[in-house]
Amino acid sequence: MTDTDTMRDPVCGMDVSPVTSVTSTEYDGTTYHFCSEDCYHTFSENPAQYASA
Ligand SMILES: [Zn+2]
Repeated sequence: MTDTDTMRDPVCGMDVSPVTSVTSTEYDGTTYHFCSEDCYHTFSENPAQYASA
């Protein structure tokens, strides 16, 4: 894995940079980054659904 600079938004599947991501959260020991507040809220309402990958 060499593309450590990019994370995948688990809600919409978009690639986001941890540096520029609007918001992030930690769930089950993993940090997730989101492209928008909307995706963050969607994730936080049902994290298990999106984090299961
Ligand atoms: Zn998103």
